Amino acid sequence: MKRIGLIGAGQLGRMTIEACRPLLGHISVLSPDYPSPAGVLADEVYVGELEDYNAIMELADETDILSYEIEHVNTDALHDLELSGKTVIPPSYILTVIKDKQLQKTMLEQAGIPSAPWIPIELMPEAYTTGSSNTVRNAVLKSVQALGGFPVVQKARRGGYDGRGVAVLNSLDDKLLLVPSFVEKKIEIDKELAVLCAVDTFGNTAVYPCVEMVFDARANLCDSVLMPARITEKQHDEAVAIARRTIEALRLLLADHKNQLMQTHANYTPVFAGIFAVEMFLAKDGSILVNEIAPRPHNSGHVTIENCVTSQFMQYYRILAGYSLGSTEMVCPGMMINLLGEPGASGTPRYVGIEEALRVPGVSLHLYGKTEVKPFRKMGHLTAIAPTVEEAIRRAELAREKIKILSE
Ligand code: ADP
Repeated sequence: MKRIGLIGAGQLGRMTIEACRPLLGHISVLSPDYPSPAGVLADEVYVGELEDYNAIMELADETDILSYEIEHVNTDALHDLELSGKTVIPPSYILTVIKDKQLQKTMLEQAGIPSAPWIPIELMPEAYTTGSSNTVRNAVLKSVQALGGFPVVQKARRGGYDGRGVAVLNSLDDKLLLVPSFVEKKIEIDKELAVLCAVDTFGNTAVYPCVEMVFDARANLCDSVLMPARITEKQHDEAVAIARRTIEALRLLLADHKNQLMQTHANYTPVFAGIFAVEMFLAKDGSILVNEIAPRPHNSGHVTIENCVTSQFMQYYRILAGYSLGSTEMVCPGMMINLLGEPGASGTPRYVGIEEALRVPGVSLHLYGKTEVKPFRKMGHLTAIAPTVEEAIRRAELAREKIKILSE
C-alpha cells in the first residue's frame, strides 16, 4: 500500500482522507498547525510551514507519493525531490506554471485555448513598491490602452486566492494592486462554469459534467455550485472539450520540460496525473473562455461526494495510490452551498440549526472542524441532491436558511 504525503491540511485534505478510508489508504499531512481539519483524521501529522523546504523533505522521507491540497507550497523542494526520482502528483513544474497566473495565461495562449485577452504590465517587480505611484499608474495605463481601454481586471501574478489578487479597474482612480501583475479585459460574464478533470498515472483522463458556480460578491468567493450547469447541451459539450484541451496542453508542457531535463537528470521521470479544475466564463456573447486552472480537488467538485459515482476526493486518492479512475457519471442533480462564518463571528465556532438543516430531504452536511471562525471563512458546506436541478436548489436554499455559523 502506497503511503501518501499531503502538503496542507485544510478541508480538501480532510475530505480526501475521509474518502481514502474504504480503500485503507494511508495519508500523512504537513500542516503549519495542529489541530487542523485534515490533521485530526490523518495517519501522521508533520507540523511545519508549507513553504519550508526541510519540512517537505521530512514528509517525503516517510512517504512514497507526494501531493498538495493548496498551491502555496515550496515548489523548489518538490522539484528537487523529483530530480532524485520521487513522484509528485501533479508534478511540480505544472504547479510552477499554474501558480504564476501570467505563465498560465501564456500557456493557454500558446496552446490556442480561448481565454480573456490580456497584456503584461511592463514593470520591474521592485518598481511596484519602490517606484512612485505615477510610475505604476503609467505602466498600468499603457497596458490598458494596448488592450483597448477600461474596464479591465488587474490580476496579481502570484499569491491570489478566493479573489484576493484581483482588482476590477474602471479607471485609474480605482485602487491598483501594487504587486507584479497583468491586466485582462473585463468580460461580461453570463455564468461561471467549471469542469473537473481527473488524470490517472496510466495517462487516462476522465471528466465530470460541467458545473455552474455562483459567486458571492460580498465575500469575493464561490457561494454555491450546481451540477449540471444550466446551459445548453452544445455549451456543455464545448466546455468539456475546452477543459480536455487544457489538460492536454498541460500534459504537453510537462513532456517538453521532461525532455529538456532528462539529458542531465536521468532520474527525472515526472508523471502527468492529478485532479484539475478548469474554471471558465460563459460570456454574454456566448463564448466560453478559460479563467484559470486549479491543480487539486476544488470547491466546485464538492457536490460530487453525493451526486456522482466517484467523488473528486475518492478519485484523487485513487490517482495518488496508483489505481485506475472511477466513473465520473452523475447519479442525480445536486447543489452545494459553502457555509461561511457569519459577519461579526470571531473565535470558537458555534453551529446553529444543524438538526433543522439535516431534516431537509436529500441534504448532507460537511463541517470542516476549523477551530476558529471568521466572517466569510469557509467553515463547511452543504449539498442537496434531488431528481431535478430545480428541486436540488429548493432543498439546498431551504437548508441554508436553517444553519448559521456564529462564535461562542
Ligand atoms: P482567484 O484566483 O483569486 O480565484 P480569479 O482569477 O478566479 O481569482 O478571479 C476571481 C473572480 O473575479 C472570478 O471568479 C470572476 O468572477 C472575476 N473575474 C476574474 N477575471 C475576470 C475577467 N477577466 N472579467 C470579469 N470578471 C473576472
